[in-house]
Amino acid sequence: MVSQHQGQATGVTPPATANYAGRRAALRKQVFEGKLPPDALLITNTGNLYYLTGFTGSFGALLLTPDTERFVTSGIYATQAQAEIADLPIVLNPILKEFNATVAETAAALGTKVLGVESSVSVAGLQGLRRAMRRAGVRVRPIGAPVERMRQVKDAYEIARLRDAAHLADATFEHIQRLFQPEIAEWDIAMEIDFYIRRQGAYPAFETIAVSGERTALPHGKPTERRLQRGDFVTVDFGAKLNGYCSDLTRTVVIGKASAEQRRIYNAVLEAVQRCIDAIRPGKRGKQIDALARKVLAKHGLSDYFGHSLGHSLGLLVHDGAGLSFRDKQPLKAGMALTVEPGVYVPGFGGVRIEQDVWVTETGCEPLTHAPIELLEFDW
Ligand code: ZN
Ligand code: ZN
Repeated sequence: MVSQHQGQATGVTPPATANYAGRRAALRKQVFEGKLPPDALLITNTGNLYYLTGFTGSFGALLLTPDTERFVTSGIYATQAQAEIADLPIVLNPILKEFNATVAETAAALGTKVLGVESSVSVAGLQGLRRAMRRAGVRVRPIGAPVERMRQVKDAYEIARLRDAAHLADATFEHIQRLFQPEIAEWDIAMEIDFYIRRQGAYPAFETIAVSGERTALPHGKPTERRLQRGDFVTVDFGAKLNGYCSDLTRTVVIGKASAEQRRIYNAVLEAVQRCIDAIRPGKRGKQIDALARKVLAKHGLSDYFGHSLGHSLGLLVHDGAGLSFRDKQPLKAGMALTVEPGVYVPGFGGVRIEQDVWVTETGCEPLTHAPIELLEFDW
């Protein structure tokens, strides 16, 4: 249990629905009460639209001024937008009309002279927007990524959804254990993972990894027809996107009995993941946790075999902003959700990765994933 703080997870029963209006209010406060505020803000990034409104379509625009809101979308989403975002006035772009022109006219009608635009807009998207806005007498000003910054710190509703997604990943790992036996192909395992996740009403959060034998030395190897053999390492890395939120789980297991070298490498990675999870708390920097993993692996003479970052943020995307890499200099905050995934990859021998999902509490962190973490040997 942690103390109540800015709507973060509290151990109290989480709300059943997201507080979209509250998020929009917080965004307005941040943007319009800051330095040199624009007159209005335009949000078009689909993840940000979902975060701020609950709209699950792939195309729309949210216009916010200090005291009004409009949601612009096209006819294809007319019914869906009305059902999903009943609390916002909806403007439908007529068929045959340029979408940007409708957005520009809506912004101008709200008295906008300077429109703030998020940094995730593409170069081509920005050019088109500038042209349409110029015709409507509106200037465009990039304002960075305020919504992505908000999304870094999860509220109680989001932690509950991340827990659900992690729980599904745990169940998937348990389900596929029957396939950890000789003669099963890597892609049979990958397919069963994807099928199981979809059967539970979710989607694979990214392309599932299932590699075996020497191929476990490929951190992002694609599954092939290779069949498992006794003595193999097998690594699976997959995630579930459930109700918008992602999980991400990696486990390496052994078919048959582990050799002494396999066990040595596994235990080194296990020590790294556990030490890092113990060290995570608000105020620590991502790069410090990443450095700790390298220090633990160096003690075992294995740091040269760890060629990727320690972890990333989790949320609406599986890689959802700053996490635990040498580039992450900002202090961690309570409410962040992170993966912790050290790995050791020895070319010609094989590799081990263990990936846990955690969320940062006021005093440390709590696991989201609960699949067994000790070395599993499948000796049928
Ligand atoms: Zn992963
Ligand atoms: Zn990951």
